[in-house]
Amino acid sequence: MTDRAPSVFSRIIAREIPADVVFESEHVIAFKDIAPQAPVHLLVVPKTEAYANVAELAAGDPALLAEVVATASSLAAEHADGDYRLIFNTGAGAGQTVFHVHAHVLAGGLTEGTLAQL
Ligand code: 5GP
Repeated sequence: MTDRAPSVFSRIIAREIPADVVFESEHVIAFKDIAPQAPVHLLVVPKTEAYANVAELAAGDPALLAEVVATASSLAAEHADGDYRLIFNTGAGAGQTVFHVHAHVLAGGLTEGTLAQL
């Protein structure tokens, strides 16, 4: 048990908040970002909210991190041409607003030199 309220992503997983879900497995869910910053902007989210960021996930469950990356890769092939940018904002100073680890998958006509804008 935790005394924290469920994260917004846990509420999406529980179908308490609607989302445009594009993939779901036993351990991972993926849906469209509500405020897209690229032609394709998906979030890949472990169903557990035990890990706040990618470093915690890598240390605590590397197989789950590998599933997040593999899911991102196949979704980029399905929704774009297979090329993609994978971003894990880590810490408020880096723009993280939801402290339930998630990968941003950006794809579909990305331009060079925009890396710092998300
Ligand atoms: P962060 O800033 O933590 O790296 O990323 C959080 C992302 O979650 C943001 O890009 C934001 O647009 C997205 N987001 C926040 N709330 C919701 C929501 O209720 N639904 C969806 N689909 N995306 C959300």
